Amino acid sequence: MNWDDRIISERELHAYREDESDASLEAYAAALMDQQYDAWPRFREGRDAFEQIETKRVPVEESEVVIQHNPRRILSTAASVDKPSIENRRCFLCPENLPPEEKGIAYGECVILCNPFPVLDRHLSIVHREHIPQQIDGNVEVLLALARDLGSSYFVLYNGPECGASAPDHLHFQACSRELLPIEENLFEDEPVMSEDCAYCEETARNTFELFTLGGCGRSIVVFRGGDRDEVAHWVYEVIGELAQQTDRQEPLINIICTYDPKLWTVYLFPRSKHRPASFFAEGEARLVVSPGAIDMAGVVVVPEREHFDKIDGPRVAAIFSEVSMRGELVNELIDGICSMPKVEEPEW
Ligand SMILES: [Zn+2]
Repeated sequence: MNWDDRIISERELHAYREDESDASLEAYAAALMDQQYDAWPRFREGRDAFEQIETKRVPVEESEVVIQHNPRRILSTAASVDKPSIENRRCFLCPENLPPEEKGIAYGECVILCNPFPVLDRHLSIVHREHIPQQIDGNVEVLLALARDLGSSYFVLYNGPECGASAPDHLHFQACSRELLPIEENLFEDEPVMSEDCAYCEETARNTFELFTLGGCGRSIVVFRGGDRDEVAHWVYEVIGELAQQTDRQEPLINIICTYDPKLWTVYLFPRSKHRPASFFAEGEARLVVSPGAIDMAGVVVVPEREHFDKIDGPRVAAIFSEVSMRGELVNELIDGICSMPKVEEPEW
């Protein structure tokens, strides 16, 4: 099967569309999930199992982290992502290898699919039609557009090829319900909430751009906020470029979370020092199968093993975050350096 056979038709979605006049991507995604729930048994099982998921909350410095016991994530949490393993498996994001029932919505060069192993509610995978490598270079604009088009009830994420992506050879993003996104609580703590229909708020957002690091969370986080897509993308590339130089990698180890409120993007970039903590590879009592990607760094830590869920606590999560994050002082220095660069005026042609 190629992608053309995978794109769901209006006819197939018709019965699942709640309001025919609502042409938003959010409404189409909702209809797709309901259709797939009926048509695709494995997705149904995944969504039903998700309803039973157990969680607990633990503090990490001034932030709160939700620990989630999610046994169905064992395959992706423990997936081998080294080069030989990737080369010797069939790509599970290519259309010919998807289950026959799986269908999606066309989105530019990508296709929006439902994740049968959800970590959060309404978990979607947004997969490029071509089997091309996972990389952020040239794709920040797509990430921002997706966040805008899916609307403010979603967040969109990117996992670097060496930093949480279980298909490092096939470009993809993910999107989930924004209802549970603990990292936002830290950002918005002291800020007034923007009202939906306020022209003044929208105008202010459009003309705003901020770049700063978020402290007190036990991990390094760079935040970009602005209302101009090109400007936000420009600074995200700028910081990623600096990180790449500092770490001597083509793409630095990063995870990204992006939200969109009316006219305002917020991007959270997590610069990392390594993908998996030592406890992932340890034996016996010290072993803890936690393999942090964007969702974990954003404050929902996925633990597939029951025993590990029982023993994990705030200090253990703090130790993992600290081990896998790039050192705070380094990140702060890097951002200070970028912010103090003299502004070059773009010539007007
Ligand atoms: Zn592929």
